[in-house]
Amino acid sequence: MLKKTFINKEELEKIIADVPTPFHLYDEKGIRNNAQALKDAFSWNKGFREYFAVKALPNPYIIDILKEYGYGCDCSSITELMMSKALGCGGELTMFSSNDTPVEEFKYAYDMGAIINFDDITHIEKYEKAVGKFPKTMSCRYNPGGVFKISNDIMDNPGDAKYGMTTEQIFEAFKILKEKGVENFGIHAFLASNTVTNDYYPMLAKELFKLAVELHKKVGVKIAFINLSGGIGIPYRPEQEPNDIAVIGEGVKKAYEEILGAEGMNDVSIYTELGRFMTGPYGCLVTKAINEKHTHKEYIGVDACAVNLMRPAMYGAYHHITVMGKENEKCDHKYDVTGSLCENNDKFAIDRMLPKIDMGDILFIHDTGAHGFAMGYNYNGKLKSAEVLLKEDGSHEVIRRAETPKDYFATFDNLPIYEKLMDAMKDAQ
Ligand SMILES: *Cc1c(COP(=O)(O)O)cnc(C)c1O
Repeated sequence: MLKKTFINKEELEKIIADVPTPFHLYDEKGIRNNAQALKDAFSWNKGFREYFAVKALPNPYIIDILKEYGYGCDCSSITELMMSKALGCGGELTMFSSNDTPVEEFKYAYDMGAIINFDDITHIEKYEKAVGKFPKTMSCRYNPGGVFKISNDIMDNPGDAKYGMTTEQIFEAFKILKEKGVENFGIHAFLASNTVTNDYYPMLAKELFKLAVELHKKVGVKIAFINLSGGIGIPYRPEQEPNDIAVIGEGVKKAYEEILGAEGMNDVSIYTELGRFMTGPYGCLVTKAINEKHTHKEYIGVDACAVNLMRPAMYGAYHHITVMGKENEKCDHKYDVTGSLCENNDKFAIDRMLPKIDMGDILFIHDTGAHGFAMGYNYNGKLKSAEVLLKEDGSHEVIRRAETPKDYFATFDNLPIYEKLMDAMKDAQ
């Protein structure tokens, strides 16, 4: 499939006149259409709810859009919980799926009424010491171990993952929690990441539904929900076929009827905690070519770097690049597209065939709407960019300003050097 940009060059130039590059741009229309498609795909399940994985795109304005579809927040840290609370996602609109959890965070989650999803059996005792009371509804994260094989070329290794409880442990955990007075139980599992296939959720659902039946029968607990978590992928590469969420929803429905329906467990809610699928394709990193270098290879230097988008440096991840206005030109130049970090892995693309790039050209780096801005950091004293929302009516709004040197120096504000840093800052224009 041809990867299209969700904005043309002329419109993008108007935004750049207002917001200097680099910045992340998010497409409201795309986010909304996709959110609705997910809702439609699971409309057969009365209690269905998506808990948006806040870590993918922790911006209150984006989460607010998703809230309109009845969606809540999946949080894994206290600051994410705070953001969720500030957005009015108190109570069961927040799922707290964390791991290696500090007990203070359990306390905060309990106080805001969030659903707590235990990653480990040892957390039960620690939680009880810190919080004292158990809510009526709780969840446990499951990890069957081994390899989760979806097809010959798609698999993941839950057995190597730090998350979740073994089968034995989850039975034991449910027993303990039942004794502590918990009444409604949830099962959560995340067994494969970025799956570009319609088979992952249905296969996962089958396993979890069978487990739910066993837990219901053997421990005598009420299973209130099954949380299929994240893992639905997006086609980063042009040759990949996108997932069809309607087909995925149908696949889960079939498994639900076969396994839960057969046991009369027709009131179990399906939850998801999608991040990448919700926002990934509807964001891009907008950056300008500012340097070219001809040495042992051909380099294009842009004004963004890995602090704005870490995935290529971290995982060698592919992000498609469109040179704005040159969509129909031949890709007959081979470039490494680099940022300015003093790290040789600061490359958005290696040996990428692109049209001839001229200085000042605008590059649209695709699919940065999840785990893009969110993974930002400040290495080399680099500052995080702005985030801009392209609204449905074509106007734009800055939904987070860019960092300034003052932000970068802010955590020295209790030390004598702070005044001098503030003075030095003034010498920049
Ligand atoms: C990261 C994460 C998600 C979201 O994963 P995606 O692959 O982005 O959909 C959901 N739940 C938990 C617990 C996570 O850690």
